Amino acid sequence: MRPAVFLDRDGTLLKFVDHLIDPAQVELSPGAVVALQRLRNSGHAIIVITNQPLIGRGLATPDQVAQVNEEMNRKLRALGSSIDAVYVCPVAPTGNDPTIIEHVDRKPGPGLLMRAAVDHGIQLDRSWMVGDSVRDVLAGRNARCFGQVLLTNGKPIRNEEIQRISPVLTAPNLCGAVDLILRVKLKA
Ligand SMILES: [Mg+2]
Repeated sequence: MRPAVFLDRDGTLLKFVDHLIDPAQVELSPGAVVALQRLRNSGHAIIVITNQPLIGRGLATPDQVAQVNEEMNRKLRALGSSIDAVYVCPVAPTGNDPTIIEHVDRKPGPGLLMRAAVDHGIQLDRSWMVGDSVRDVLAGRNARCFGQVLLTNGKPIRNEEIQRISPVLTAPNLCGAVDLILRVKLKA
């Protein structure tokens, strides 16, 4: 059993692009390769967990989303990096409250993290969830991960949002999140 860092995709491992279905628009976040390398060196599995409601809304096909994920993997491999797996939730929400679990697999639901834990021999209570939304943080909490880091990506976080999930660790970007994670690990 090993720990994992679960990563959101859009706005976390990849630069945020609205309605990302064109592989040509895939761009890794700054510092992503170094961040992943540091997580690997510290013995973490790296699993991407992504909500893709475009599929459920009929605005993208599962194949289009898979092609974006493949391009992400190709770009990582080209730079000598990799992730262990990508789990996609295709379900579209009916409401817009990010704290409500509408489907167990759709973040903030813990379903995909729990499935990944079984598939990859991951110990959830030593693992982390990193993402740029309330849904990501709560998915990590609902899966009983050890910790969660909310990425601010240089934007102010809306107060009402942060109050709903307070207290929460924040970092300006993926590299900052990895700094936090490895610091805690050293103390453990
Ligand atoms: Mg995101």
